[in-house]
Amino acid sequence: MKIAIGWLYPTLMSTYGDRGNVICLQRRCQWRGIEVEVIPLKRETGVAQFNQVDLIVGGGAQDRQQEIVMRDLQGEKAQILQTKIDQGTPGVFTCGSPQLLGHYYEPALGKRIEGLGILDMVSQHPGIEAQRCIGNLVFEITATPIASELQVMLGEKPIVIGFENHGGRTYLQDVQPLGKVIKGYGNNGEDQTAGAFYQNAIATYSHGPLLPKNQFIADWLIKKSLQKKYQQEITLTALEDSLAIAARKAMLQRLDLSNLLSTV
Ligand code: GLN
Repeated sequence: MKIAIGWLYPTLMSTYGDRGNVICLQRRCQWRGIEVEVIPLKRETGVAQFNQVDLIVGGGAQDRQQEIVMRDLQGEKAQILQTKIDQGTPGVFTCGSPQLLGHYYEPALGKRIEGLGILDMVSQHPGIEAQRCIGNLVFEITATPIASELQVMLGEKPIVIGFENHGGRTYLQDVQPLGKVIKGYGNNGEDQTAGAFYQNAIATYSHGPLLPKNQFIADWLIKKSLQKKYQQEITLTALEDSLAIAARKAMLQRLDLSNLLSTV
């Protein structure tokens, strides 16, 4: 079996170690004998390669880089991405990239950046005087059906541990939140929503990078993309995850959330 991971604009969009998500997916596939091709989706990349991907990863970016990306992500490239996400190609999008999948992102300075409108949400920076949302972020995944699918995989509630750093605030419209904030700001610091979930696309403000510390999400993405590609039920072999589990325990203890330890 083989997976092609499409990595959106690797040099423009990979703040706070988001490339770790790609490495994590790649390694967890290879450890199971699943072949992986990482396809960088950048300005020079043609539409044929956009069409080849089975799983999409998008990282964070600064406002200026987001603008450059959106100048390129137009026409056929945008259409392919939209069709893939609409039709259930799994993806994980962090911070700046979900802002671009929504209707628009309004930076503190400069013009509104029009997004792809795949996720029914908008993002706005409240201005240069406003505090950025920075710190550790913990949330419970509550979206359907991913929450119950993860619960079955894990045998417990899916708790995500990450780190956020964003100026923009995201307001969801007709799209379900990925989860509910336990600690941190989440989408906007007001309504306790964390991220968004649409088809098999996960949008989140959680860097970390997200997947090495929340390895069950990586496995969910791999499983979904193999199932979609090969049209059959996939059972992934278990991996030795003691390091990831120890890191999660240490973080929850440090954040005074030891009450969640049984759900690690
Ligand atoms: N530029 C966006 C913001 O500050 C995204 C930042 C990021 O991706 N870390 O809101």
